[in-house]
Amino acid sequence: MDKKEILSKFSTDPERYYKVKLFENEGFMRKSCTTCKRFYWTIDENRVNCPDHSDDTYSFIGNPPTKKRFDYTQAWKEVESFFQKNGHTSVSRYPVVCRWRDDLYFTIASIVDFQRVMGSKVVFEFPANPLVVPQTSLRFKDLENVGVTGRHFSSFCMIGQHSIPNSQGYWKDECVNLDYRLVTEQFGVDKKEIVFVEDVWEGGGSFGSSLEFFVKGLELGNAVFTEFQGDLTNYRTLDQQIIDMGAGLERFAWITMGTPTAYDCCFGPITSNLIEQTGIDTNSELLVRYFTEIAKNFERFNDLSEVRKNAIKSAGLSNEQMDKIITPLEGIYLIIDHIRTLIFAISDGALPSNVGGGYNLRMMLRRIISTMDRLSLKFDINDMIDAQIDYLNDTYPELEETREDVKTIITIEADRYENSKFRMQKIVSKLNQKPTVDDLIRLYESDGVTPDYLKEMKVISDIPSTFYSKLSELHQSKKQKEQDQLSLEGLPETELLYYEDDPKEFDAKVLKSFDQYVVLDKTSFYPRGGGQEPDHGTIGGFDVVDVSKHGNIVLHELKGSTIKEGDVVSCVVDSKRRDDITKNHTSTHILNSSSRSVLGSWVWQHSAFKEEDHARLDITHHSALTDDEIVKIEDLANSVVDKNMSVTIENFDRGDAEQKYGFKIYQGGIVPVKSVRIVSIEDFDIEACGGTHVKKTGEIKLVKITRTKRIQDGVVRIEFVSGDTALDYAKQHNVDLARKSAELKDKAKLKEKRQEQKQELRERLPILVENITACKIGTNNVDEIIVDITEPGKPNFCSTMNDQYDEFFHISLGENLIEKDPWMVYCGVFEDGDKIRAIIYSGEQVGKDKKAGDIAKTVSEVLGGAGGGTQRFAQGGGKDKSKKNNAIEKAKTMVLGV
Ligand SMILES: [Zn+2]
Ligand SMILES: [Zn+2]
Repeated sequence: MDKKEILSKFSTDPERYYKVKLFENEGFMRKSCTTCKRFYWTIDENRVNCPDHSDDTYSFIGNPPTKKRFDYTQAWKEVESFFQKNGHTSVSRYPVVCRWRDDLYFTIASIVDFQRVMGSKVVFEFPANPLVVPQTSLRFKDLENVGVTGRHFSSFCMIGQHSIPNSQGYWKDECVNLDYRLVTEQFGVDKKEIVFVEDVWEGGGSFGSSLEFFVKGLELGNAVFTEFQGDLTNYRTLDQQIIDMGAGLERFAWITMGTPTAYDCCFGPITSNLIEQTGIDTNSELLVRYFTEIAKNFERFNDLSEVRKNAIKSAGLSNEQMDKIITPLEGIYLIIDHIRTLIFAISDGALPSNVGGGYNLRMMLRRIISTMDRLSLKFDINDMIDAQIDYLNDTYPELEETREDVKTIITIEADRYENSKFRMQKIVSKLNQKPTVDDLIRLYESDGVTPDYLKEMKVISDIPSTFYSKLSELHQSKKQKEQDQLSLEGLPETELLYYEDDPKEFDAKVLKSFDQYVVLDKTSFYPRGGGQEPDHGTIGGFDVVDVSKHGNIVLHELKGSTIKEGDVVSCVVDSKRRDDITKNHTSTHILNSSSRSVLGSWVWQHSAFKEEDHARLDITHHSALTDDEIVKIEDLANSVVDKNMSVTIENFDRGDAEQKYGFKIYQGGIVPVKSVRIVSIEDFDIEACGGTHVKKTGEIKLVKITRTKRIQDGVVRIEFVSGDTALDYAKQHNVDLARKSAELKDKAKLKEKRQEQKQELRERLPILVENITACKIGTNNVDEIIVDITEPGKPNFCSTMNDQYDEFFHISLGENLIEKDPWMVYCGVFEDGDKIRAIIYSGEQVGKDKKAGDIAKTVSEVLGGAGGGTQRFAQGGGKDKSKKNNAIEKAKTMVLGV
């Protein structure tokens, strides 16, 4: 269905679709824009154009239409108190990480809070009616506009006003009346200034009319009435009509402040502090002129750089003013916007990474750093985080809890980026032409090179406007799961005995039998689900090899089944297998909470797998685990086991469970049913889970982590065992450990012994040298060192191949001997592993004729190897251990000539 078609149809019958009581009571006129023909409602007789095409568009910049001034947090207080006065419940924001929807990473609008997907249908669950919520919403598709246009944010507070028309809630008349009074009474805008523009909304098979409301050309909000389903030729009123009024809190603040941009009034004192730090000479008249031009003409051009060029010209800015004022301001705006988004996302458990929604977060942090580098801004990121959380404290006090965690993650991620810069430089230096948008996407996806970095390196001058929208399309929504193909139509729901008395032996009636599959009227066999592997056992004597759930029907796969439909069969569940899997499942919950408490609030279950003899838990974490962290996690988990805590299971209405425990219950993913099963390990861990669990943690006996591994960016796998498997593992592990430590001890002893020997030799060496040089003519033996002394002025020879002497000794002795006796040649031969080595020293006098290098060469040849060196020192060796003696004899002959 085309929006235009719906609009043209609805516009032909404004009485039915658009005219609300307020318009009649206050004398609103319906007009058509002379420029674009759109229909709008106003009490201003002189108005001839819609808000987009009026002369007063964006004239509130520098000249706000209200007497009161409200910044971001004050604006929310005004909105909240107005709606509370008028019978609304104020609900706290929902997480920005959209854990309750499979098709969204991030919460993109306030209405998403209350949408739950059941099969292919979206249902609405409201915790109160009517209600108002300050929902932080993340949108990444126009990142290139952030900081530049004055009104685009990567995250903003959507004021959600929601109502279901019934005895408590209201419909169009009251909705528009409230919005009108909010703007005029609470914010003090003149009645003549508010304009309602006719529009429509369409999505997910339903559609309805909507009224956008504007003041001075700024769209403050859009009241959407989700009213019909079907198509234009045939539609009917929805059973569950919904009012979805979304308004930008940033804009409410901006309209009352009239600052050059919305960034100037939505981050508290942070913006002006940063501007002061950089010493930009902000001239407010100039800024008003420039940003009014930007705001007014933003829609007119396709390209942002054209919008800028036009504004520079119209506002009469010099190049110098652009470079010294506007460009650094844009950078500051971008930085504070992106930091605020990162704070919300990381606080709610998202991590920057190269997969899924983490992409956008990594991109934003890299933009912050690149922008600071490009503009030589020296802001302290941690200070900016502190300042933001301090400022947001009034509206979002929960951010306080994760203040330090946000800093930790951002520091790690910033370091990672710094470390990758060298690699990026290399990649960039190889680019030989201007990259296309697809090149940019590839450069970012495969090499982590952001376009901001390319801008910083002056490879590109502007980031193409389609880059972020393309990237965000690629990573915005998760893949839908494949639909079940099996046809089990017409069968009644299987009665799930494992959620009741859980008998391990029971009789059941066969409702369907085909191929090797059977469907029973009831079963105690737990089907594969939530990472828990299926039960085994027998049905009618046949082995059960697999169990799976299809909708509400449990399907058993048997080995060689001949069971007939209508039979009553006796069933036996393998209870040992089930017990072991159950212990592993409860252990998964314990380890998950243990990891979070040891590592940080960003830890969520990424996925899990529970088999009989092993299990694994994948958690979101930024780095590989250290040994110390592993020990701490395991210790904490085992302390929970030792405390023998009670595990309780209760069914809740989903909305009630979310309100009571928060979204941390969705560790195992979304729960597509109205009623959720909450598994609590006292107050240590509370999760929504359909699996089987022990009654007391003591049953688990022991949890042992067997291995951990970083399996992808931002995800760490913890492999573990529990119960008897863990006890066996620990026993084996202790044996291994004992063996290893014995080996280590032996090694250490050996090393120590060598060390002692060395020390002893070191002490003996001077005495040895003295004893050797004191030797008389002839052959002497000094501690197994053979010393041949000839007449004075003739060569002497000294050698040893005794095992107690090592390389260090030979070198020390040789050095010392030739120092004392310039006629001495020393030859030390020793074993080194499977080789024989020789060390030769030749004294200053004897060396003239008998060079150490020559001797080493000859000796090595005898030993079957090669060697060489200088006149004074040489070494060599070979492999033939039987030739040690011959080698020394040969050397002696060379020296003494005998
Ligand atoms: Zn118009
Ligand atoms: Zn579970």
